[in-house]
Amino acid sequence: MTDADLREELVRAARAVKQRGLSHGTTGNVSVRAGDSIIITPTACDLATVRPEELAAVSLDGEPLTDAVPSKEAYLHAAVFRNRPEASAIVHTHSLHATAVACLAELDVQDALPALTAYYAMKVEALPVIDYCAPGDRRLADLAGSAARRHATVLLRNHGPVIASPSVATAVDVAEEIEQTAKLFLLLQGRPSAPLDDVERRRLFEATTARERKTR
Ligand SMILES: [Zn+2]
Repeated sequence: MTDADLREELVRAARAVKQRGLSHGTTGNVSVRAGDSIIITPTACDLATVRPEELAAVSLDGEPLTDAVPSKEAYLHAAVFRNRPEASAIVHTHSLHATAVACLAELDVQDALPALTAYYAMKVEALPVIDYCAPGDRRLADLAGSAARRHATVLLRNHGPVIASPSVATAVDVAEEIEQTAKLFLLLQGRPSAPLDDVERRRLFEATTARERKTR
């Protein structure tokens, strides 16, 4: 894929994030790997209107390579890419319900959301919580990077989810699934709920990833 193709693909994904209600104002950022560099949405951009020529590029260390100023989360994206070679794209949002879950006092930090539906189980293996650090803080990048060795999806405390994926379209789908499950989880607060058991969850996730591997 050429640089122009990657930029077009990234812009389509950015629009989808906004259209699916996963980002408000100028929040959220999307990136794709382009060889030894990363193309990423610029700082303070509206994902609905950003144009391919406005995208920024950073090195795999997160250092800017273009005049366009990258999102301040670029170091976090770079750390996840360095630690997760199979990832080609990252979506990070502040979507409402997932962020609400990230603010709960009582949270399972190993896995913030139960697999309430089969669709969540197919897409999300686990959603560990990363300790709070201010946005753009290098420590946040280090923590997310080390979690990325084992996990494709993480939830930043008091902040929002980060999704790494082999394709940017899939990363947006997973971001949407996390948001929907967070909404269900909050709807069910105060009532006993019956998530899928661990065996069924694992079976669904592995069957889905095996199928995706075949079609890739
Ligand atoms: Zn953020």
